[in-house]
Amino acid sequence: MTIYDVDRYLNSLDDGRAVYYRGQKVSNVVNHPEIGAAVKHASLVYKWQKDPKYRSMLVCRDKDYGEISTFYRIPKKPEDLMERFDLIYKTTRMGRGTFNIIQAIGSDALFALLIASREIDSKLGTAYHDRVEKFFRYVAEEDLALAVAQTDVKGDRILRPSEQSDPDMYVHIVKRTNEGIIVRGAKAHTTQGPVANEIIVLPTRAMTKDDADYAVAFAIPANAKGLKMISKPEKASEAALNDPWFIVGRENVETESITIFDDVFVPWDRVFLAGEWQYAGLIAVMFPTYHRFTAIAYRAGIADMLIGLGKLLAELNGVDDKSHIRRDIVEIIKYKELLRSTGYLAAHESKMDPATSIYVPNRVITNVGKLIANENYLDVVKHLVDVAGGLAATLPSSKDFENPDERKYLEKYLVGKKGTDAIVRSRILSMTKEIISSFGALFATAMIHAEGSIEASILELYRSYDYDGSKDLAFYASGIRDELRE
Ligand SMILES: Cc1cc2nc3c(=O)[nH]c(=O)nc-3n(C[C@H](O)[C@H](O)[C@H](O)COP(=O)(O)OP(=O)(O)OC[C@H]3O[C@@H](n4cnc5c(N)ncnc54)[C@H](O)[C@@H]3O)c2cc1C
Repeated sequence: MTIYDVDRYLNSLDDGRAVYYRGQKVSNVVNHPEIGAAVKHASLVYKWQKDPKYRSMLVCRDKDYGEISTFYRIPKKPEDLMERFDLIYKTTRMGRGTFNIIQAIGSDALFALLIASREIDSKLGTAYHDRVEKFFRYVAEEDLALAVAQTDVKGDRILRPSEQSDPDMYVHIVKRTNEGIIVRGAKAHTTQGPVANEIIVLPTRAMTKDDADYAVAFAIPANAKGLKMISKPEKASEAALNDPWFIVGRENVETESITIFDDVFVPWDRVFLAGEWQYAGLIAVMFPTYHRFTAIAYRAGIADMLIGLGKLLAELNGVDDKSHIRRDIVEIIKYKELLRSTGYLAAHESKMDPATSIYVPNRVITNVGKLIANENYLDVVKHLVDVAGGLAATLPSSKDFENPDERKYLEKYLVGKKGTDAIVRSRILSMTKEIISSFGALFATAMIHAEGSIEASILELYRSYDYDGSKDLAFYASGIRDELRE
């Protein structure tokens, strides 16, 4: 096996990939001031794998693949999922409160594909499972960095893929040859695509017979011919270039791209679904189940930082024992601990897929956790802002603290409770400010939409909940049945 080291990962990104940033083609993502920050963050996974302090968490031994990244350990019992939850929670904390997606999302997709491909093969006599397994082995043994492009640009949301006025609104097969398929279309919001080695592409929704060409799943290298990635402007990194205090913006960001497939060739051994429309929905649901489980874990990690910021500011401001401040902090604690509870319960109540022996997090509990995370994040920020006070918006910059003319005033007037340090207080306020401002648009949107919109979780929860026991109880309580059946 080859556990990458940081240098090998960095060198692997210099491969001619087509990435754009603010209207410019990026010649090398590693050296780019803003995308380079996303590279730095991703490379932490490789750094931790070598670090004696973290190695036992980040690296494990698998009987089939040897020594691999723990992100690529296939869950074969509920405890594996619990450890996966901890891995994602802890690496989010180790990344200064920023989720490290680079092997998490790809493994979520591959677990889903391993299960779905076995089912498709057993029903249709196709040969997808072997291809997924072969790709999984390659990824795990080479310790690769992955992105997943599931969300299509989608055009008119009410129309199905085949009904769109422009047929390219969902990624689809435009040609089949003896060697493979050619695909066209675009996916949105692909996190870390520009800094990944491979992009896994999945269908975003269930399909009908008319949508058969849109029922497509595959993997391609990030430098595949015809693949183009347009990165979002990285506000947090841009802000950090002018702010020595804002280390997260320089070292712990992730980038998202519009990912364009301009007639990209995919060889058959990397195609995992090609036209079997009846199974697009299975993949579209299996992947989010794993990925929402991942989401609960990283969001608990982010919430942990918000608790820390809030509690420190309460102490520094001298209002730590005031009842409404207590309430603010407890609301953030409640958010975090509800996420942790749903994550562990989803692992504890996970089910084994009988055909592959792979464990799947409990779908209902996972979606409950995801909904709690979606619906309450902005309230959690409201509580943090209430504790922080207005300086979370109006704080002077770190540069003002460097100027001796200003520093003496700032050190005098920005002190909080007696005995506290104005610089410490200002730095905690500065981090709080970045969460609300340069990270604000990202977090506000990501916490509602990433890993699927609120409505997607509601639909999934309403559909997959097992109502039998509850209905039985209602019959029994109403006197219609004499005893409980369940
Ligand atoms: C920071 C971030 C990172 C992300 N990372 C990834 C990633 O790595 N890979 C990936 O594949 N995706 C990623 N996503 C995409 C994410 O899963 C989507 O944003 C989410 O599924 C919503 O899709 P959308 O953005 O197209 O919004 P829309 O689907 O347009 O949703 C907007 C609203 O319209 C509603 N709506 C949409 N269609 C219908 C309909 N037919 N009927 C009724 N209501 C409808 C939705 O419920 C929602 O309320 C990321 C998103 C964010 C914000």
